[in-house]
Formats: sequence, structure tokens, C-alpha cells
Amino acid sequence: MANGESESGHAPDLMNKLTSLCKRRGFVFQSSEIYGGVGSVYDYGSLGVELKNNLRQAWWREMVHRRADIEGLDSGILMNSRVWEASGHVEGFTDPLVECRNCHRRFRADELEGVQCPSCGMSGTFTEPRQFNLMFKTFMGPVEDEGAVAYLRPETAQGIYVNFRNVHETARQKIPFGIAQIGKAFRNEITPGNFIFRTREFEQMEMQYFVKPGKDAEWFEAWMERRMDWVRRLGITPERLRFHEHGADELAHYAKTAFDIQYHFPFGWQEFEGIHNRTDFDLSRHQEFSGKKLEYFDPASGDRFVPYVIETSAGLDRTLLVVLADAYAEEEIEGEKRVLLRLHPHLAPIKAAVFPLVKKDGMPEVASRVADSLRESLPVFYDETGSIGRRYRRQDEAGTPYCITIDGVTLEDETVTVRDRDTLLQERVPIAGLRQHLQAALDADPL
Ligand code: ATP
Repeated sequence: MANGESESGHAPDLMNKLTSLCKRRGFVFQSSEIYGGVGSVYDYGSLGVELKNNLRQAWWREMVHRRADIEGLDSGILMNSRVWEASGHVEGFTDPLVECRNCHRRFRADELEGVQCPSCGMSGTFTEPRQFNLMFKTFMGPVEDEGAVAYLRPETAQGIYVNFRNVHETARQKIPFGIAQIGKAFRNEITPGNFIFRTREFEQMEMQYFVKPGKDAEWFEAWMERRMDWVRRLGITPERLRFHEHGADELAHYAKTAFDIQYHFPFGWQEFEGIHNRTDFDLSRHQEFSGKKLEYFDPASGDRFVPYVIETSAGLDRTLLVVLADAYAEEEIEGEKRVLLRLHPHLAPIKAAVFPLVKKDGMPEVASRVADSLRESLPVFYDETGSIGRRYRRQDEAGTPYCITIDGVTLEDETVTVRDRDTLLQERVPIAGLRQHLQAALDADPL
């Protein structure tokens, strides 16, 4: 992985540069930073929360609003603990943990190469692996005994399965149909790391598609294609994307077939979304554990069956890291370096920045008026401090697709310049038509 940087074609030392840009510009902060931080939890600042919301909404539009056959859901993080017995998580949601007897650091045995401790360098000091459950455990109510144990959900999928009947009956969907939800998940990862790649608290965007047994293979193929297509539409470099099929040793206990969508990160090829054929495992188990029927009756054929499930499961934070890593670029323009985020305009936190060229001659007043009128329909940022070049650079780093400048000509003819982040081309647009101009530019590349 040492030469992974040049292979993936990213800027050298990208992860450090990205982490520092994210902090400097208010995308991502370490949680509880003033107390020295907390193990692998991150907070999203004013630009980060916009980017995250935009990505979340793009997924929701794609998976729920554009489809007549998919319903949305928002289920609780805390659930009856029997859910996690039925799902297999209490027994089997584990990673093999080893400890170095010398430095006492802990590692995932399946991620280690050889017998040398990556932390202190000693060899042969690892303990035998033991299975470590990744679920966060807590208690519901005032009594802390075994009967009150509750878990913070490690995936959003189970909330969908236990609501299968509710949604199916109320939305009056017929198979095949899907249920989608976005929400927090928690995993007590042994070795979190790589910034927001692997954290202990994160958000998932999951969709479970219920199909007739026998139709699962063709739906699996269709969802693989559809999901890869969406990732490409986000603007991710196609050469940095690939499928990885799980071998027999990687398959989860519930899965018949599984493919990951991987991205070529600076630290190697890694998954950020999985497409899984979970068969009738989950619904059958919930049927068994709850004693409630979770079958589907097909009125056309008279068949009764437990549906098979094709799952698409993406991490919101991890996809956001893909988006940021792929958007980061360094360029030299007329001997001057600029850093920019080539974010898809629909994902960009700020759509347009408005500047008066100078802080006099009434330009700030006109610029404020323009910014206020645009703010009604788009997230806009007003900036009058520093040289115009510096203001452009600041917006390039924030990924803002358009910068609008009010100059001497504006005072004469009520036109402004609109600068494009990527091409650096500037065109003059009348203030009266500015909103439509920007909207048309955004509509040209929908997401
Ligand atoms: P890994 O092998 O990386 O631990 P996984 O195979 O356990 O991941 P899934 O259970 O399939 O992952 O979860 C689906 C998606 O949820 C992943 O593709 C990833 O985007 C996201 N995800 C899982 N664990 C984490 C985590 N600790 N931090 C951030 N995102 C995560």
C-alpha cells in the first residue's frame, strides 16, 4: 500500500491534506476536540453538514422519490433486544481481536499481516484471537440488569425487516418492492481509522428490496448496475471504481451473493457500499423469533412465500469521503497554486458566492442586495474581505461552483460576472436574470 498514492492518482499525502482542509474550512471536526477528542467520532461543521445533507438527499431522491416501488422509513435506533438475537448479531457480529502483550494495543487479527506488532514492532507477542462483539450495549429504563439490556443498532436494516408487514400493508405495495432508510448506526470497531472511513458512529443509507424467491439473481444484477450508475453520476472518477465479489470466506452468515463497490482510496481499494443477496434469512428468523407471520401472499398466483431480500447498503460518511477524496485537486494557474474541490454542483455546500470587487463606490450595497435575493432560492455566501483573488481561492477550496462579482461595470449596466470554478471562465449576466442563469446551470447536470 506504500505506493498506493501514485497508483490511485491522487495528490501526494492526500489524506493529511484532506483532513486539514476539512478542519480549516469547517467540513469535519474531531468530536469533543477540546477534551482531546474521543475514539473515532467526527462532527460536521457548517460546510460539512450541507455536503452531507446534499448527499443524503441525492440518495433519497434516487432510491425513494424516483421509484414508485420503494417506500421510505425512519425507525428507532433502540429496538427490542430480541431483534439482535434473531438477526444473529448477539451471537455472530464479532471480529477476531488480538492484543500485543508488549504494548497492549489491540488489533483485528484478520487485518494483520504477519506476526509483527504494527505499533511497537515486536514479533510473536500477540495473544490468541478472541471473538469481540462490535455492538454497543446499554440499559433501557432505571434498572441495570440483564433483562434491561439494549443495543445501539449496528445497522439500519433490521428496522426495515421488523416493519416489513407495517409498510407493506399501509403502502399497499406488491412484490417486488423496497423499503429505504437513512440513519445512524454504531459499531465498537477495534481499529477505526483513516479519518471518517471507519468510525464508531456513522450513518447508513440502506434499501431492502423484497422479491419472489427465484427472481433474486436477476434483481441482484439490476441493483448492482443501478447503484454503480448512481455513484458514477456523483462524478466519481470511473477508473477509481470497481466491483469486488465476496469469496466464500468473506460472505456474511446471511448472504448468498455479495458484491462491494470499492473506491481506490490513497490507502488502497476499499468498500463503501455493499449489494447483498440476503435470501429469506432475516424475515424467516424474525418470523421464528417473534412468532408473527412475515409471509407474502401473491393474489395473482395464489402463492404464499417468505420474500428474498436484495440489500443495497452504503455508508453516508464513507461515501462522503469518496466524494471529497475524488474532488480534491491541486492546480497551478499562472504560477500560483490553487486547491479546489471539484464537487458536483448539486453536492456543493454553497452554490454561489457574491463579492463586491472593492469595498467602496456602493459595490458592497449592490452585492448584499444580490446575495439576499439569491438566498431565497440557493445557499449563498457573501464575502467582502481580502483581495478578490483570495476570495476566489477560498471558494475553490469550499467547492463553490459559481462566484459572482459586482464591479465598476455593474454600476453602469446592472450586469455581474459569473466565474466558473472548474473552467475559470467568466461571463457577464444581468442581475435581473441571475437566479434563472444559476438555476439553469444547476439543472443542466441533475443528480
Ligand atoms: P467493513 O468490512 O469495512 O467493516 P462491512 O462489510 O462490515 O464493512 P457492511 O456491514 O456491509 O460493512 O456495511 C455497509 C456499509 O456501511 C459499508 O460499505 C460502509 O460504507 C458503511 N460502514 C460500515 N462500517 C462502518 C464504519 N465503522 N464507519 C463508517 N462506515 C461504515
